[in-house]
Amino acid sequence: AKEQGRNNFQFFAPWMDTQVSNRLEMLISLRRALDQQEFKLFYQPKLSLKDGRIIGAEALIRWESPEQGMVAPDRFIPFAEEAGLIVPIGEWVLRTACRQNKAWQDAGLPPIPVAVNLSPRQMNQALPEFVANVLADSGLSASWLELEITENVVMKDAEKTVATLNTLKRLGLQISVDDFGTGYSSLSYLRRFPVDALKIDKSFVRDIARDADSAAIVKAVISLAHILNLRVIAEGVEDEEQHAFLRENGCDEVQGYYFGKPMTVDDFTDRLRKEAVQ
Ligand code: C2E
Ligand code: CA
Ligand code: CA
Ligand code: CA
Repeated sequence: AKEQGRNNFQFFAPWMDTQVSNRLEMLISLRRALDQQEFKLFYQPKLSLKDGRIIGAEALIRWESPEQGMVAPDRFIPFAEEAGLIVPIGEWVLRTACRQNKAWQDAGLPPIPVAVNLSPRQMNQALPEFVANVLADSGLSASWLELEITENVVMKDAEKTVATLNTLKRLGLQISVDDFGTGYSSLSYLRRFPVDALKIDKSFVRDIARDADSAAIVKAVISLAHILNLRVIAEGVEDEEQHAFLRENGCDEVQGYYFGKPMTVDDFTDRLRKEAVQ
């Protein structure tokens, strides 16, 4: 079976199975990707449900691999996390997104916050200082930066995470909880953690129309967020039915293919420019 496929693993000692050699290859190419600047950021618009205007963007990483073409993050972020490479990759993401957002502002486009995804490994005591440096270097005001963290980040080491998040908040940026409803969290942390917004996971949004439980969960999360004075964003909105449900139930913001897929800097710039003249 080892002779099959594109790769030849016979360079590796017999005790190394295919999976291990794949991992090694992956590591080597991710390291190279970082050095050779093969990563790109795409941007997906977030819209206000009140008036349909763009009120933010999420930066999403892509890997333009010379061998494999465009690689989606789900195929390499887990490796990068395991190997510790997510820290330098995440630093690149943050720097690039802040610079890009400053460039849009300098070009006179309507200012919007840009959100960056943080992996659990990045959530450590060194993060606030790093973020502060990136903001200073890029000249972007902290209020135009949002960090998306998952529930599991929050639960990993609650005490330390609270302290780190509080330090981050003091910089003046926004923090949202991504994939809300899928993690292993208790609701009590929402009171203790300095977050500004909840993002309803796209699995609930997808099933709004065909599953009463998903619809009920979406409604409950919207109410919960508002009781706690948090904004609420629905991700993965793909059609008018979902859009209408979210609007009727008082969701604040939407994001999804129905309004715009993640796009290149040039395409997002055009989109923002069109907004500006409306
Ligand atoms: P996420 O943060 O939950 O991002 C939302 C994902 O849903 C994105 O996938 C986005 O392209 C996709 N999406 C947006 N609208 C729709 C829709 O209407 N329908 C469906 N089915 N999907 C939609 P993507 O870009 O492949 O990213 C996947 C995950 O990879 C992200 O999930 C995030 O967890 C991770 N990721 C992406 N960029 C970064 C990054 O820079 N750093 C880190 N640490 N993780 C990242
Ligand atoms: Ca996200
Ligand atoms: Ca999400
Ligand atoms: Ca996710």
